[in-house]
Formats: sequence, C-alpha cells, structure tokens
Amino acid sequence: MNAYLERTIENVKSKYANEPEFVQTVEEVLSSLEPVIEKHPEYENADLLGRMVEPERMFTFRVAWMADDGSWHTNTGYRCQFNGAIGPYKGGLRFQKNVYPGIIKFLGFEQIFKNSLTGLPIGGGKGGSDFDPAGKSDAEIMRFCQSYMQALYRYIGPDVDVPAGDMGVGAREIGYLFGEYRRLKGTFENGVLTGKGFSYGGSRIRPEATGYGAVYYLENVLKHEGESIKDKTIACAGFGNVTWGICKKAFQLGAKVVTLSGPDGYVYDPEGVATEEKVNYLLEMRDSGRNRVQDYADKFPGTTFYPGEKPWGVKVDICMPSAMQNDVHMEHAKKIAEAGVKYYIEVANMPTTNDALKYLMDCDNMIVAPSKAVNAGGVATSALEMSQNSERLVWSAEEVDKQLKQIMDTIYNMSVEAAEEYGLGYNLVAGANIAGFQRVADAMMAQGVF
Ligand code: GLU
Repeated sequence: MNAYLERTIENVKSKYANEPEFVQTVEEVLSSLEPVIEKHPEYENADLLGRMVEPERMFTFRVAWMADDGSWHTNTGYRCQFNGAIGPYKGGLRFQKNVYPGIIKFLGFEQIFKNSLTGLPIGGGKGGSDFDPAGKSDAEIMRFCQSYMQALYRYIGPDVDVPAGDMGVGAREIGYLFGEYRRLKGTFENGVLTGKGFSYGGSRIRPEATGYGAVYYLENVLKHEGESIKDKTIACAGFGNVTWGICKKAFQLGAKVVTLSGPDGYVYDPEGVATEEKVNYLLEMRDSGRNRVQDYADKFPGTTFYPGEKPWGVKVDICMPSAMQNDVHMEHAKKIAEAGVKYYIEVANMPTTNDALKYLMDCDNMIVAPSKAVNAGGVATSALEMSQNSERLVWSAEEVDKQLKQIMDTIYNMSVEAAEEYGLGYNLVAGANIAGFQRVADAMMAQGVF
C-alpha cells in the first residue's frame, strides 16, 4: 500500500483505538484511495489525509432536562463539524443510548464523502446525544430538545452548520429544536435545520427521500445488468423512516419488500409490504415508540416472526440493510451469498463490517453498492430544503422528486466513472469513495493548509 496512506491509517488506528467505528470507516474509505494518492504526490506535503481524518472542530456539551416526575437528568450532547471545505457543515443528530464520540465521528466522516457526492454545497458534520428517547413522554422529549438547543444554538446557522434528523430525531424533535432556536435568536432562520415540518419550511418528499433515493440508485444498478425492479423481492432491515421510504417506492414500482427487522427479531411477509395499509402501518409502529417488529406479524396474517434473528439468508433478489451500523457480519454475509442474492445495496450508514463487505465484493455474481452513495438522497433533499428556505420558495413534490432522481442518477454515474478512470472496473464502492474524496480534496488544496 502507498506509504503515506498506510501511515495515516496506522496513526488513526493507534490514536483512536477506543473509537472502533471511526477507525473502521477511515480504513474502508482510505484503502479505496490508493490510485488517487499515487497520482497526487502533492497531497502528502500538504498532509491532506492527516487533515481529512481530523475534525475541524468537535465539541460536547451538557444537556440537563427534567423528567415528568420532577427529577433532573443529565446527558452529553455532541456536534462534530468535520469538514467545511465545500459548504456549511451538514448532517443529522442521533439521539440513542449508545452514542459516544466514536459513533459521531464515524457518521461525520461518512457524511463528508456522501455530501460531496451529491454535488451540492454541503460540508460534513454530525451530532447527537446519548439520550435514550425510548419510553419518554412528549413533554420530556420537548424539554430535552429545548435544553439541547440552548447549548448548541450559538454554534450553528444557515451558513455555518445545518443539523437534521437521524435515529431518534424525526420531524417532532426537529420542530422542538427549531422552536427553541427561533426563540433564542429572535429571527426566523429556518435554513438552520432541515427535516422540518412542511408548515414552517420543510420540503416536500424529505421524509421519503432517503428510501426513494435508495430505490432510484438501485434502478440504475439493475439497468446496468439489463434487469428491471418489477417483481423483484427485497430484504430490508429496520422499520423506521428509511425502510418505510423504500417500501413505499418499491410498492409503487411493482417490487416487494419481504422482510423487516427490529431489536426483537425479523418478520417475513411473502406478499411483501405491498399495500397502502401495510406501508402506513410502519409509521404507526414507529410512532408507538414500542420498537417491536413483531407488531407487524401480529397485525398481518400470513407473515412470520422470527424472534432474535436477522433477515440475512432469506432467499431474495436484493438485500438492502437499512437499519444501523455493523448489522451484517461475516456469518451473515456468507448466508447472503449462499441464498443466491445478486444485489447487496447498503442503505444504513456503514451497515456492513469491513471483512464482510470485502467478502461480498469478492463474491462472483454479487453487485455491492455502498451506503454513502445509496442513502445520499436524504441529505441531498435536505440541501434542496436549504435552497427553498434561502429563496423563500416552496417547490412541489414533483419538482423535488425530479431533482432527487437526477441527483441519484448523477451519483451513480459519477461513481461508475471514477472507478473506471482509475482502472478499477465496475466498482461502486471504490468509485463512490474516490468521487466523493476528489471534490473535497480539490477544495482543501485550493484553500490553503489549516
Ligand atoms: N442523517 C441523515 C444522513 O445520514 C440525513 C442528514 C441530513 O439530512 O442532513 O445523511
């Protein structure tokens, strides 16, 4: 391997041994970049890679909030402003018990390249808290969000840093966060957050965008193989916002999502999540806060619930891991290959361990697409929301959907071309890393060393 590349990876490994998710994503991205680094020896002198793996700024803050019984609780808030070379920092907030710097930094690092791939002017950022939203009342969520924003508001803004949702942060939380920002600043700067409700500056199609974008990307992959999405079976994981969007679009296009998963196991629905009632039920499941996928099997006869298991190994045409990081390990990858799956389309951020990803990429007849390209439709539509806010305009659903589709087609084509340019063949994983990297690298080189 290129010595500079290897040294940068080794430095991250030894410095951040206690942040394994961050190390994992740095290794995955950087190891794709060998031919680019070889071609650009000037990067080493400017320590481009060393700077890229170091966030421009990252901070923690105290978030104290009152529970309904009057007791006070304290959580840690995070925001990582990883790379602002091509635009204001942009990326979601994750509220989940397991959040710690390693999770925020892995998500922030992925976000740099994902946002770059969209072709839009957005830098990479991420934030969140180790707050556990499970079982919290609406009033508790509101007080937590208000306290969170009291700490964060001075460090964000429509031209500075634009947070959005991620796990545990949906339209409700964004509403409370925005309300508090507006109250503190005394201005209506709705471009400070995306994923807002439509009544105060949210974009049409933003809730669906990540799932729709993933399916648009998938259609490009299928077209390359001379196939169509109609009648295809898809295994998804999770049942949250992203999976809902995939089910909705797949249903519209005549494909069937046959598995969903949750912390309690997975469900298999041979008929697919392919009626309006079933698609809408996913929203009900999410809003219930129960976090149980078994509810789906209880509601719809003919479906089976497999407690404690994952859907990897079910015979389908396409796997779309859309739940969370490191959901698919080597043992699952082997089962996926054995089941004769032809398309492995990552959707959640880093859903595959690095060894499992390599295994799947090396399988004959398996096409692998990386999440940072496949799920970029969400943040791309956030950037469209920012455009609408700054222009004080509202675009129709058709207009946003058309732009989303165009962006996904471009991401796919750019990835294919980048891999080909460096002699890597049809390699969507390396292509996305290279294309995403190149734009940020050019901007950083142009702006001088800091
Ligand atoms: N959290 C989403 C992501 O991983 C969306 C971020 C955004 O819209 O800014 O890309």
